[in-house]
Amino acid sequence: MVENREELRTHHVLEITTIVGCKVACRYCPQEKFVNAYKKISDIYRFDLDNFKTVLATVPEEVDIYFCGMSEPFLHPQCAEMICYAGRRGTVSPSTPVWSA
Ligand code: SF4
Repeated sequence: MVENREELRTHHVLEITTIVGCKVACRYCPQEKFVNAYKKISDIYRFDLDNFKTVLATVPEEVDIYFCGMSEPFLHPQCAEMICYAGRRGTVSPSTPVWSA
């Protein structure tokens, strides 16, 4: 959690997009543009749990992990496992319409 302006400048955050192609369809979301741009660089649409763990091992512990990115994170069937795993190493912040409800 960021407490002041100075912390905001030096605070590091990694946003996790667990899945590409959010089905929630909020009217204000540029989801279609995101998916179309993503299709040009990859055909992998779901963050594999083992890959997630491998990537997380390269992230310094002081970096907070935010589960928000460009999709509703709980559309991924292993999102809860990802959050629990990430929570063991540092600060995690799920930010999702589901979490806010
Ligand atoms: S939940 Fe988030 S990512 Fe999904 S459509 Fe709404 S704003 Fe976009």
